[in-house]
Amino acid sequence: MLPRIWRWALVAIAVPGLAAPATATALTRTDYDALTAHLFDAAQPIPTGGLTWRIDVAEWSLDSGTMRLQGGPGGTVTGLWFQGAGALRLPVPDPVELRQLRRFLGDPGIAALDVTFDRMLLRASGGPPTARLDLPAPGGTPIPEVEERHDHYLRMRLLDVDARVLAALAAPGAQYWQADIHTADRGWLTVTYDSLRREELSVQYFDAQHSYVESWLSLDRTEDRDAAGRPAGPRDPLFELDHVDIAARLVDAARKFPTFLHAEFDVRVDVVVRKDSSALPFSLRNRAEVTAVRDAEGRDLEFVRDHIGARSNAIDKDVYDDLLLVLLPETQHRGAKLSLRVLYELDMPKYAGGRDWYPAPLDGSLHDRHTARLEMTTDDRHELQAMGQRVEATEHDGLKTSVWEVVQPEKMITFALQRTNYTKELDFDGLPAVTTVGDLNSGLRLLSEGRIDAVAADTVNSLNYLQSLLASPLPDAHFYAALIPAVHGQAFAGFLHLGEFTAALDTPAAVERFRAHEVAHQWWGHLVGWDSYRDQWLSESFAEYVALMFVQTTVDGGDKIFKEAITAYGREVRGSLESSFSSFARPDYSRLSALGAARMGPIGLGWRASVAEAPSAYSTLAYYKGALVLHMLRTATRLMTGSDQAFVDILRDFVHTEQGGYATTEDFRAAVERRVPADWSWFFDEWVYGAEIPTYVWSQEVVRGNGGLQLRLTVEQKDVGPGFRMLVPVRIDLGGGQEAEVGVFVDEPVETFELPLPSKPRKVEFNAGDAVIANVRKH
Ligand SMILES: [Zn+2]
Repeated sequence: MLPRIWRWALVAIAVPGLAAPATATALTRTDYDALTAHLFDAAQPIPTGGLTWRIDVAEWSLDSGTMRLQGGPGGTVTGLWFQGAGALRLPVPDPVELRQLRRFLGDPGIAALDVTFDRMLLRASGGPPTARLDLPAPGGTPIPEVEERHDHYLRMRLLDVDARVLAALAAPGAQYWQADIHTADRGWLTVTYDSLRREELSVQYFDAQHSYVESWLSLDRTEDRDAAGRPAGPRDPLFELDHVDIAARLVDAARKFPTFLHAEFDVRVDVVVRKDSSALPFSLRNRAEVTAVRDAEGRDLEFVRDHIGARSNAIDKDVYDDLLLVLLPETQHRGAKLSLRVLYELDMPKYAGGRDWYPAPLDGSLHDRHTARLEMTTDDRHELQAMGQRVEATEHDGLKTSVWEVVQPEKMITFALQRTNYTKELDFDGLPAVTTVGDLNSGLRLLSEGRIDAVAADTVNSLNYLQSLLASPLPDAHFYAALIPAVHGQAFAGFLHLGEFTAALDTPAAVERFRAHEVAHQWWGHLVGWDSYRDQWLSESFAEYVALMFVQTTVDGGDKIFKEAITAYGREVRGSLESSFSSFARPDYSRLSALGAARMGPIGLGWRASVAEAPSAYSTLAYYKGALVLHMLRTATRLMTGSDQAFVDILRDFVHTEQGGYATTEDFRAAVERRVPADWSWFFDEWVYGAEIPTYVWSQEVVRGNGGLQLRLTVEQKDVGPGFRMLVPVRIDLGGGQEAEVGVFVDEPVETFELPLPSKPRKVEFNAGDAVIANVRKH
């Protein structure tokens, strides 16, 4: 007779649409504390013949050895510790994911992740109800190696696995499985099935040398994948933000960083519940110390947020898990509206970046546009600007309080404050009124009135240029550009953060590109959102490329500067140092290792394209390679149609079709195919879903044929798979100021093209203007 755990394995794991472990009663801190004790019962042998099961496409087997179980609330098994001989086979149904897994592993032949392991720690939100399972006896003992794994998660990955298990236990129908396996060849791998994520099945690898987590696989569950194996499931969040009411006291300086504020927040979040649950996983900046969470009646609610910084001297004392799991007294059902108050303290700079400074759903998407009210108190030396409309301002006892309302739902809310204010107002017909503010006395005193005026002028000019380029006026009546003490910028709806260091740079065109980039996010990012992390490149790459178009069109010598930028971006993407001194270069990427370059992924994988050797690879892809992808598209459509207008039409079509929504890469492809009808899938497959960079070795010869002079080009294509194709521009200088541009469609390992010539050419440039991302050598 098989041990009953066998039935558990079959019932709980092999059946598709796993049985819900629904706990009837809401969960408490006591349940969490019991989980974190990690008490395992006595070891039992793996039955003869082993245990096998499937989780979606992942096929597991424990062939021999021993296992120990951890019990949990509501009659669940929440942990399994295995030692022996086990195996995982995970066939990869998604061709883009498979290509990337091959690059990660440096093994072009594989079709599956195939590993054996000698240890496994499974943490899960449990199996079937108590009656069908031999539950571990209450109690048991901790296991040192299991504690080590949890410690690793907390300290190295800032991840509280117990809290994730608890969150899934609280949502009837949710499933969380996280198997940490010690493999023979690859060390520890983490395989997760999390039904609260949009892409449920994932594999991660922790690179200890670089202390970096690589994301090797992320798959939609079988029911949701499309015919090609790609993720196609709808977004299915547990809950969404509807409104935030933020009261903040921004008066005291932070203890550690005098330029930072010690901010005290009292935030009411109004959320809409989308799936039944008795716990709400929020995300909040990991430096925020949460002091209380209350319900609408003012009652204190329990919450879970691990104080990771208290666990190790190597981590800042201020660091918490970014998960704030709020435990509700009872299950909330789909459609329920809920108001919660979260009180916390946070050391932060004098501006609010991103949206992690206030509680928002953990799923990390920006789909839940929400309204806001902000009541902000500062000392009387500071001037505060927030998004939306200021509806009230009072001054009392040396403190200033202003109230702001954001009535149009937005993806994220922000504010910035300055001590000595300099304001430049510019108001032109047909444009939002632009207010630019800067602090003349901040930090290094980089700003002057003239520099702030220049920022204001660039903001207005780029707004004007982009409105007409995209034939899409902005809805906002007002627009703020706040110079913040930073080197970076960030765009919010009608509100820009521009690092004041950039205002002081002596590289005019690069700085104008930077400002126009942030302005362009009003269209690419805010008006047209991105659907998932796989589509986020659209926002960054479009902002970057239209900013380059702004420089090309409006700056003196723009064509030459534009060309320099395209060449510099191409060299960066190809790992060449040749443009290191260009003001368009990014020094961090130039140091990319050859191994990192070989392993990093395509743009269409989003942040998951980054690798341990090049953890910032994705930003290079999104800013540089993505801009070049658009440049290649512009070049190709110009060669095909004879005009630059085709590309402009594509941009306008894309904005008009997708505004107010969340676009995917495939939506963009559709816009391209509407404007320049052809099957463009090869282009996206190579440059968005693929990571190859071709090498072209070419030679030229002028021959006399039947019709007259001919330019004979021979092109060898290398370093890419069979079928790789590209339209490459060739510029022919015919002398006397005469120039011809033609496109050659390279799609074979070796090809010869014959182009008729009116006269002997003075110079021939293959891949003119470095338009195609390629290594080019002349034979
Ligand atoms: Zn950007």
